[in-house]
Amino acid sequence: MKKNRLRKTVQILFFVLIALIAVNHTLAAAGSGIPLLSEASLHAVCPFGGVESIYQLLTAGTFVKKIHESGLVLMYIVFGAALLLGSLFCGWICPFGTFQEMVSLLGRRILKKKFNRFIPYSFDRYLRYLRYAMLVWVIVMTARSGQLFFAEVDPYYALFQFWTGEVALGGYIILGLTLVLSLFMERPFCKYACPYGAVLGIFNLFRIIPLKRNADTCISCRKCDKTCPMNIPLSGAGTVRNHQCISCFECTSTDGVCPVPGTLEFRTGSFGDAAKKEAE
Ligand code: SF4
Ligand code: SF4
Repeated sequence: MKKNRLRKTVQILFFVLIALIAVNHTLAAAGSGIPLLSEASLHAVCPFGGVESIYQLLTAGTFVKKIHESGLVLMYIVFGAALLLGSLFCGWICPFGTFQEMVSLLGRRILKKKFNRFIPYSFDRYLRYLRYAMLVWVIVMTARSGQLFFAEVDPYYALFQFWTGEVALGGYIILGLTLVLSLFMERPFCKYACPYGAVLGIFNLFRIIPLKRNADTCISCRKCDKTCPMNIPLSGAGTVRNHQCISCFECTSTDGVCPVPGTLEFRTGSFGDAAKKEAE
């Protein structure tokens, strides 16, 4: 199975799993529950909880309220994968990324070629750093309050717990905004606001397996540029170390739209090395 198709299967599986855990948490609180399924809250299965707790863990050795060890363990696993393949979690696992992609299917159908092309990249590339401002804000406010501050504006929590009455107004507002914007562009929350995506995006700068374009075989068709959901300009790049890449494989030669085999791939060595090996 091609990796971009495999990715969609994995995304749906995780989306359904998290939805079931969210429902089961409510059922368990009411005295029933789905057999064999975790009764944990969504906070316990969110790797961003580990990041939010870091300051309190380092200074007081304790977790922020509602967060426990599982968040830290998940954080280490996601960071390990990010060392190899960057923001893999965003593109393959995160149910909120999947939710945005599902809404965007409708937007793409309505707007066709205009979809995801509203903001010129020359300007948009700077707007994308907003998520780092969000990251700093969340960490500072969490450290100051000792509370799970991100829960006040967390659209992921709002999506999977909207029926509980535990969701803050800010969460509903950001969820509504994300829903509307997803009709016009791919992954608006990931691009401009997600603090966890910001952390994982840093790994893209030094990941062990980066995306590389072979300039010798590239025919400059720009199909990769048009396909990338994160609007990363690829057709003029060498090694792509963009902090917004979500490792979706949609652009690549073997699994995505690039029509020339061996031209756009995730790999460690240079294309020259591969050609030499083939010749030997
Ligand atoms: S550069 Fe390729 S792998 Fe990365 S987000 Fe864009 S299409 Fe996906
Ligand atoms: S899709 Fe492949 S051949 Fe076309 S511009 Fe991109 S890297 Fe080059």
